[in-house]
Amino acid sequence: MLHPLDPQSDPFHEWPTRSPLGALTVMLYHPTIYDAVSSALTRLPQSIPTRLSSHPKWLAFIRFKEICERAYGSTPRNMTSLCDNLQHSTMGVTHPDDARSAQCSQCCSAVYCSPQCQQHDWKIHRDECGARYIDRIYQRADRAWFSHRTRGMLLQLLQAFLEDFCDNFQDPREAL
Ligand SMILES: [Zn+2]
Ligand SMILES: [Zn+2]
Repeated sequence: MLHPLDPQSDPFHEWPTRSPLGALTVMLYHPTIYDAVSSALTRLPQSIPTRLSSHPKWLAFIRFKEICERAYGSTPRNMTSLCDNLQHSTMGVTHPDDARSAQCSQCCSAVYCSPQCQQHDWKIHRDECGARYIDRIYQRADRAWFSHRTRGMLLQLLQAFLEDFCDNFQDPREAL
């Protein structure tokens, strides 16, 4: 991807309209690809990142890689506790960090952090459970179904984006 490197030319200049690095940047959201790219980056000769260090496409790539690192690099993966109980935050439910969420066994669509949340939500969910079962079949057929694992992964990434945003936020009023 980074060849040929003519020292005098833009390393991305000869690439076709769809930038391979741009495509790779987008795919980094997937932990398996992030792992592979992260490992490959450690094996790059230092001269390459140094040479690319001010290139906008490279900077965007590294920036997104840092956010993925925040999401996937240290915290345990697939441990995000999902809960479809809208009253979850008021339930005072405590569970160990490694607790896995359990899905509704009838529709396999709703997921809960605990039996308490599932029981509490049943008042609402019982009226939608049948419809969600059907929806899930159609979504799977259309390849539009997100597994609970993928939902957890995307939530982890969203959390990393928000944390990064908060860390780097500068109030425009402070600049006045
Ligand atoms: Zn819950
Ligand atoms: Zn259900």
